[in-house]
Amino acid sequence: MMLSNGRAIYHNCFTFCEFAITFAKNNRMSSLFNKPKSIEFKNIKPVYRENLPKLYIETYGCQMNVSDSEVVASIMQSNGYVITERIEEADIVLINTCSIRDNAEQRVWGRLDIFRLEKKKRPSILVGVIGCMAERLREELMDHDKLVDLVVGPDAYRELPQLVRAAESGQKGINVLLSREETYAEISPIRLDKNGVSAFISIMRGCNNMCSYCVVPYTRGAERSRDPKTILREAEELFANGYREVTLLGQNVNSYRWKGQDEDTNFAELLEMVAQVSPSLRVRFSTSHPKDISDEVLYTIAMYENICNNIHLPVQSGSSRILKLMNRNYTRDFYMERIRAIRHILSDCSISTDIITGFCTETEEDHQDTLSLMEWVNFDFAYMFKYSERPNTKASRHLTDDVPEEIKTKRLNEIILLQHKLSELSKKKDVGKSFEVLVEGESKRSAEYYYGRTSYNKVVVFPKESCRIGDYIYVEISDCTPATLIGKIVEE
Ligand code: SAM
Ligand code: SF4
Repeated sequence: MMLSNGRAIYHNCFTFCEFAITFAKNNRMSSLFNKPKSIEFKNIKPVYRENLPKLYIETYGCQMNVSDSEVVASIMQSNGYVITERIEEADIVLINTCSIRDNAEQRVWGRLDIFRLEKKKRPSILVGVIGCMAERLREELMDHDKLVDLVVGPDAYRELPQLVRAAESGQKGINVLLSREETYAEISPIRLDKNGVSAFISIMRGCNNMCSYCVVPYTRGAERSRDPKTILREAEELFANGYREVTLLGQNVNSYRWKGQDEDTNFAELLEMVAQVSPSLRVRFSTSHPKDISDEVLYTIAMYENICNNIHLPVQSGSSRILKLMNRNYTRDFYMERIRAIRHILSDCSISTDIITGFCTETEEDHQDTLSLMEWVNFDFAYMFKYSERPNTKASRHLTDDVPEEIKTKRLNEIILLQHKLSELSKKKDVGKSFEVLVEGESKRSAEYYYGRTSYNKVVVFPKESCRIGDYIYVEISDCTPATLIGKIVEE
């Protein structure tokens, strides 16, 4: 069967019954969430005024941290601060931090040394550490050479203005309490991105999965979902402000679940509601956990042209034995079954992943399992990491970080080399084809070129001609590198 959006649906997997369920859900949802007819315009960009106190924020780590910095900017702007990109004129310097691997934390300590030089020049500035490191290392940070005035965890950002006042009067501003409810649901983030085209929307916070290597459940607390009405409002506001792409964010978006007074919304339903904001608003989401990505989500992607054909599905390892030690709650076979489902339900979809190499007890055979799974899936893209033991995680308490550093490095290099080949093949198969591309900005390499992305999340570079940032255009691909497609605009 071919849907109106041109996506093929296979008769044997998408039965009439499932079709009927999907349509029934559409109807139910449109009556529950009547969208406003016209979207009210509200400025969501930073406002700058010379005479107001200035906040400088530097962000490290995942997309969730980028999204959190925008919430922080919003809270501070509505309390009389303006955002500056120049540290030299800031009254408050905040660093939003990541604890996921040791090198992420080392980078932050390095930046704090630079901030110390700034504070020597201007002792009145306040320096604050926010995010995961604030949660994990509150004491060390507070004792750090009298540099840090504020330590604020991911669930305490509403308290920032009060904590700043406390710090201004010479006290230490600290709040690292984790919450079971906080989602910053009704706060409109101030958008700090440069392009004005694509934005993140946080749909949930925290994580309940307790992967044995991971610090996130400890630094970001328990999983909680955000009211879908506020998510929709944010998507509508972004669209009214000219944004053409939103990425729904959560540590495990597939376990999104909102139970309101008279509504019960799962991730597939939320995805559909956001896709209905406008056919011209692209929708992406990240991250999916293999154990939870349901066929219902895949069918929803198939139904909407504007839900992008890309799934980020972190596998972490190709060995079922290692997956068990990682507490991932799926096996290699289960992961392969989910890939088959993606390929079956979505006729064409790019798949990216995360891989950790050198986890506790990993043997050469386990490593070969990872390499063979990578080839089998044919990942279009991957983030690849060496295992970094994090204090107090289950792995640090019960397992030994026993793969020698040089073996970790050797295995990581092999994984990177293989992915390089797979990524190149994935790009090469696009040469000669045309793709719809959302124009996102000027190419870093040349002012005569724009860059944008296809629905498959592949970056395309092309001569500007007469298009503008935020336009949808068609680009015919003539060449590629392992990271980028190169082409020219064509009529479609
Ligand atoms: N929640 C997402 C998930 O489960 O895939 C992403 C979590 S984390 C921010 C992003 C990636 O960092 C993980 O997928 C994993 O590959 C990697 N990671 C997490 N803890 C790590 C550790 N201790 N050492 C190395 N890599 C790690
Ligand atoms: Fe960490 Fe696992 Fe949660 Fe991802 S799903 S944030 S890897 S505990």
